Amino acid sequence: MKLSLATAMGTCFGVQDAIDLALSPEFKDRLTVVGQLVHNPQTVERLRANGVAIVERHEIDHITTQAVMITAHGAADTTRLDLQQRGFTVYDATCPLVMRLHKLARYLERKGYFPVIVGQANHVEVQGVLGNLSRSAVIAGPQDFHKLEGETRIGVVSQTTNRLQKVEQVVAGIQALPWIEEVRFVDTICQPVKDRQQAIGDLLQLGIDLGIVIGGKNSANTRKLKELMIDRGVEAHHVESIADIDEEWFCDKEHVGITAGTSTPQDVIEEVSEYVRQLIAKRSGPAKHTSHDPITPSASS
Ligand code: SF4
Repeated sequence: MKLSLATAMGTCFGVQDAIDLALSPEFKDRLTVVGQLVHNPQTVERLRANGVAIVERHEIDHITTQAVMITAHGAADTTRLDLQQRGFTVYDATCPLVMRLHKLARYLERKGYFPVIVGQANHVEVQGVLGNLSRSAVIAGPQDFHKLEGETRIGVVSQTTNRLQKVEQVVAGIQALPWIEEVRFVDTICQPVKDRQQAIGDLLQLGIDLGIVIGGKNSANTRKLKELMIDRGVEAHHVESIADIDEEWFCDKEHVGITAGTSTPQDVIEEVSEYVRQLIAKRSGPAKHTSHDPITPSASS
């Protein structure tokens, strides 16, 4: 049985920069993060252990520190302003690629297009983008096309963690609506996410027949990496830690591939990879390791 590690996986530069800022010694016991900084339980635990408080947007009244931080997923300008007007010192860790999404959505609106965001309506990144637009719609798929009735010129952007193929399908569906005159699509899926999706394509080319995808259960991009494998006919499992791994998965399998979402820390990846290596060795002798080392956060930025 062989083991291959994806050539790009784990924490992206946007999330890593935000974590580094939150864990700076100057903020120990003095910082509140507004919203989930990362969709990963181990990292959230580390932040809490460092005295970082985490509140949801609707819990701003409960903040007790002077310093507050906006996460890599960004926020609407009204949120920033609200925090400043309440007297907090705001540290903004919005990822530059999320800022780009905000700018492009506003640009399309200024140019007279009806802005459409392909993504999940309840995701914090999407909520932030919506908050900066006067009119818009969030489209997850054809079931939402009714939101475009009466609009003829549509400007489309995407949540940064989407799969390009899925977004292109949505764009094609919008173009086919009988009342639509023009659709302008700007690809705002971020490069680290594309790199991780491409690396799965490479694992599939190598012939893996079992995929282990590491990441928080609430991490949308981790779920999408798993979907990508399943769509290509490979059995795949989403795990947060070694506790989620079932030895039964390895029965009759010949080649295991490991990848991880953009908020999964390197130490969790290493722990899971080592555990899988040991399982393989137990079943069939030492695993033949066929891939390169995964791209580290700094190398992928
Ligand atoms: S997933 Fe992409 S857009 Fe989101 S924080 Fe990471 S690099 Fe930035």
